[in-house]
Amino acid sequence: MAVACAFVAGASPAVAAGVWPLGGPVVTGFDPPDVRWGAGHRGVDVAGSVGEVVVSPSDGVVTFAGDVAGRPVVVITHDDRRSTFEPVVASVAVGTAVRAGDPIGTLAAGHACPAEACLHWGLRRGETYLDPLSLVAAAEVRLLGEDAAGAVTRRARAREAEAAALASAVGPVAGSGVLAQPTAGRLGSRFGMRFHPIFHEWRMHNGVDLSNSCGTPLVAAADGVVSHMGFDASGGWRLVIDHGGVNGAALQTVYLHAQGYRVRPGDRVGRGQLVGSMGSTGWSTGCHLHFSVKANGRHVDPLGWLAGG
Ligand SMILES: [Zn+2]
Ligand SMILES: [Zn+2]
Repeated sequence: MAVACAFVAGASPAVAAGVWPLGGPVVTGFDPPDVRWGAGHRGVDVAGSVGEVVVSPSDGVVTFAGDVAGRPVVVITHDDRRSTFEPVVASVAVGTAVRAGDPIGTLAAGHACPAEACLHWGLRRGETYLDPLSLVAAAEVRLLGEDAAGAVTRRARAREAEAAALASAVGPVAGSGVLAQPTAGRLGSRFGMRFHPIFHEWRMHNGVDLSNSCGTPLVAAADGVVSHMGFDASGGWRLVIDHGGVNGAALQTVYLHAQGYRVRPGDRVGRGQLVGSMGSTGWSTGCHLHFSVKANGRHVDPLGWLAGG
């Protein structure tokens, strides 16, 4: 499995309920519509990969396994609530009794999300949509005891710390001045190892994050030629500018998560020229620019190349 939360995958045999159906993090939360026909998100999306095994979060009975409008769906009825999983290719037949943690199928592609694949998990009582996480969050704390409760708290604190880091202002950054500041923003996560806000594990952060309001102008950090502009799941709208040889290194700057860019591959850009607007596309938890610098193809700390102030 490519992504993992530290503690949510699987459960000890003694645990009767409250297993996460998939090990990945929640990438889209529960946002029920105000009216039944309104727009909203009637469940949560959990990131995973195609073919990953999905397990029942709680004891129940399989009450549906098949296609709905061309999409594979599995429904598990637990007491008076029903969990719906899609797109999941069932490995169990209707009528099968399942325990928490029993495999019910495998994840398929098709639910729009910022990962390779996402499990859409809905929970209903009658016609009312409930937050599916209520099933696991309560169980984690209640059934797994102090350690799990501590882990939930630690995870929440780490999230808060990451959010605070993104929001807190820091002093001017010092550097060589080879590159101009690509945007006006507060410096959040720096270059180096950090606790990832979405994957909840320590990962290398190959650039710096500058946060500000959505739509804040992004500018080219130096004269150059646009070598890439496109969308990908992790970086969202991504721009790469080649700056040629600078201080003996072939220099490139990379801009991620924008709302969009106004330049195209092959365009010549000048230092400080408007190239796009700050956004939160791809794996991002709020509007910010992820800015990377590559020297001779290797990521380097951007702060060493930026102007101070
Ligand atoms: Zn969804
Ligand atoms: Zn970043």
